[in-house]
Amino acid sequence: MRAEIVIIGAGVVGLSTAYHLARAGLRSILVLERGTVGSGSTGRSLGGFRVDFSTEVNIRFSLESMKALEGFAEEFGVDPDLRRIGYLMLTTGEELAVRLRENASRLARFGVEVEVLRPAEIGARWPYLSTGDLVSGTFCARDGTVGPSELTRGYAAGARRHGVTIREGAEVVGIEVSGGRVTAVRTRTERVSTPRVLCAAGAWSAWIGRMAGVEIPVMPVRRQVFVTGPCPAIRGLVPQVVEVGKGWVFRREGAGFLIYGPQDPAPDGVATLDWGSVGWAVAAAAHRVPALADAEVLGGWAGLYDISPDSHAILGLVPGLEGFYVATGFSGHGIMHSPAAGKVMAEVILTGQATTIDIAPLTIERFGRGALLEEPMTAHHQAKG
Ligand SMILES: Cc1cc2nc3c(=O)[nH]c(=O)nc-3n(C[C@H](O)[C@H](O)[C@H](O)COP(=O)(O)OP(=O)(O)OC[C@H]3O[C@@H](n4cnc5c(N)ncnc54)[C@H](O)[C@@H]3O)c2cc1C
Repeated sequence: MRAEIVIIGAGVVGLSTAYHLARAGLRSILVLERGTVGSGSTGRSLGGFRVDFSTEVNIRFSLESMKALEGFAEEFGVDPDLRRIGYLMLTTGEELAVRLRENASRLARFGVEVEVLRPAEIGARWPYLSTGDLVSGTFCARDGTVGPSELTRGYAAGARRHGVTIREGAEVVGIEVSGGRVTAVRTRTERVSTPRVLCAAGAWSAWIGRMAGVEIPVMPVRRQVFVTGPCPAIRGLVPQVVEVGKGWVFRREGAGFLIYGPQDPAPDGVATLDWGSVGWAVAAAAHRVPALADAEVLGGWAGLYDISPDSHAILGLVPGLEGFYVATGFSGHGIMHSPAAGKVMAEVILTGQATTIDIAPLTIERFGRGALLEEPMTAHHQAKG
């Protein structure tokens, strides 16, 4: 079999790229997925969506993606379940409080309003939060959540409508390279000759890179989410609450709430729920939301964050290996940035250059040059902290 491009991974990033490539006219696109569509990190995500980042490139990815999400229902016939519940970022540290204020000023230059709040203001607006140890917070009302499965369904159906083949249960086990370029991809049952390969394998990208002789610095980190039952003491609108520096997240979900458990490295790429960490999760929740101390934990799940060394995505062509592209390492914000990521990756693959957003800061060469970015508002920083 032959394909113009093989995309490895049918998560939201691989599917968004497949859709944008096909819409731009590329034919013979094959997506290989070892599980089922969305069965990787995409299907485990909370779908948080925010513009409140520290780097210009992340802000541009959020703004461009938001534009796409606003037109998503019309383009795909699928409601993306966009809920503007707002993002409330909290910190107990002086240094991070300064960064939150700087972010608010930077975002104002992009026309995005972010309120900088003192602990007393936070307590008055969201009385179920304990604010005694807080230094500061910010609230961005236009942020919120989007449905990961709705997005994935929209992109998969849109890609298929434009002729993309998505093969499930097709694990890639080898990538053939000859004369400095990729020539074929092998699954357990077939060999596909192709001049282009896109690694969109999320947290498992390092394994794919090794098949092609390329080091892709993406580390799988386990995140656990627990679901509580109702808690009548928590009334009114609950935003997505994030404790920057701790990586703790809380929001309403149905009649109950979602709370984060601890995060830890998962070097074997497997994430299973550890019921032993329920105590940690409830204690962390009760510290910030005392009413949750008595909440019943009904269930939970675990998934992998796809962490790069500087918590930013890794995008573009891999130098020295013609035809090998990466779109990975989104570091816990791959759902929200997938619309823009698919668009810019299609531009790079088809024309050699991204025109919608300058992705020069996100190429894989940055690690060799030591040109790492800094983003304290993401999971890696929190994992270290
Ligand atoms: C608990 C949790 C909460 C999160 N919350 C948010 C959030 O609020 N907002 C946000 O934007 N992001 C969030 N994320 C992160 C987000 O889920 C990821 O960044 C995003 O899903 C990455 O998409 P992807 O397509 O790159 O990777 P994936 O969805 O992981 O897709 C990669 C695919 O590659 C496949 N694959 C791997 N190896 C092979 C192989 N050898 N052959 C064939 N296929 C292979 C996998 O099966 C997988 O389906 C969260 C993640 C977790 C775990």
